Amino acid sequence: MRGYAEEDPPSPIIVGAEGNRLIAADGRTYFDANSGYWCLALGCRPESVEKAVARQLAKFSHSTLLGLTHQPVLALTERLTRLAGPPLNHVFYADSGSEAVEAALKMAYQVQVHRGHPERSMFLALGEAYHGDTLGAVSVGGVDLFHETYRPLLFPVKRTPPPHCRRCYWKKKPETCRRECVAAFEFEIRKNRDHLAAVIIEPLLLGPGGIIPQPDDWPGKITQAARAMGVSVIFDEVAVGMGRLGSVFAFEQVGVKPDLVCVAKGLTAGILPLSAVVASEEIYREFLGEFAERKTFFHGHTFTGSALGCAAALAALGTIADPQFISRLNEKTIPAFWRALRTLENLPNVGEVRGRGLMAGIELVRNKLTDEPYPWSERWGHRVILALRRRGVQTRAIGNVVLCVPPLTVTDEEIALIAKTYPEAILEVNE
Ligand SMILES: *Cc1c(COP(=O)(O)O)cnc(C)c1O
Repeated sequence: MRGYAEEDPPSPIIVGAEGNRLIAADGRTYFDANSGYWCLALGCRPESVEKAVARQLAKFSHSTLLGLTHQPVLALTERLTRLAGPPLNHVFYADSGSEAVEAALKMAYQVQVHRGHPERSMFLALGEAYHGDTLGAVSVGGVDLFHETYRPLLFPVKRTPPPHCRRCYWKKKPETCRRECVAAFEFEIRKNRDHLAAVIIEPLLLGPGGIIPQPDDWPGKITQAARAMGVSVIFDEVAVGMGRLGSVFAFEQVGVKPDLVCVAKGLTAGILPLSAVVASEEIYREFLGEFAERKTFFHGHTFTGSALGCAAALAALGTIADPQFISRLNEKTIPAFWRALRTLENLPNVGEVRGRGLMAGIELVRNKLTDEPYPWSERWGHRVILALRRRGVQTRAIGNVVLCVPPLTVTDEEIALIAKTYPEAILEVNE
């Protein structure tokens, strides 16, 4: 944290924004290549969302969902469940991705209790998984740098190494492997089925763990395997949902629906904090009973279902879930983005450019031939971030992985800016 004070150039102080650009106090502007932190799906100033929030502000901002409901939350729930499709018919609201994950974990366990299986209290997750920073979410997380310090405070979790074709844990090649990564996860489900409340995964791509894409069929296969053994499945779509991978829900590309799906980040296009857990009919029904049976989900936050947040999310979905917007994303924006990003693979200290949709990570390595990494303490990723800052581009690095996660509204000119500034910054740092 000491480093912040010594950074050169110093962290900009943002005083305004326009389109996909941030405006700093010194008058400089920065293209936001990290979308806030992956949430400003429609850029820094989405007009339709801002207007919807202003309209709602003129009516009322907040009531409560304890004993009441309100029009924006009903409208958003209708929209989200229609988009998710049956059996994902019910929504629980919270304020952040971490809270959505907490709620989903507790729901999955309480369902087991109601079914007479209180011993089914374990979760199965992936190494390098990230599900948020509250203690339940940290328990299922698997990034040592973020999570290791807190292990004594956490509940135990079963874990398998993540699928990662380039750095395969099982030392296989994608063309000839036998999906050892599927088999390993299936094996853990089978072995622990009598003790598992649920499995939790980020489907298709591990985000904060370093932008690690999974083989296309991995999430579908493990979801089916869990189902077959009566274990619930939670998808954490906080990063990969809401258009980021080219579909409203990432599960649309998986072919199978989970029992619980968590969304946040882009849900309001990043304008207000709001998250949601979309739950299946089967999960929901487990919480119905006579008063004295105590089947209530005793969980809620003061700002659960904020009316302003719901109004923002409805407006955001007005764009993100528009079929024309989605097809433009898949047919034009995403292919142009990857054409620009692929060229970075030719740089001498770039080991891998990986990702999906509009999420890319550029991994820097000391030696391209041997894949020798830079020691994380030397902060090569961060050096590139500072070189990009000097060029008017704002982003972040996860260790040696430089992020490029632009708004879904990224323009051709901005893609050209990425194609110019990223290699310049990477080469500058390499010298
Ligand atoms: C950001 C993120 C979270 C946590 O969301 P917060 O709103 O920051 O609490 C959880 N899971 C994934 C995959 C994320 O990217």
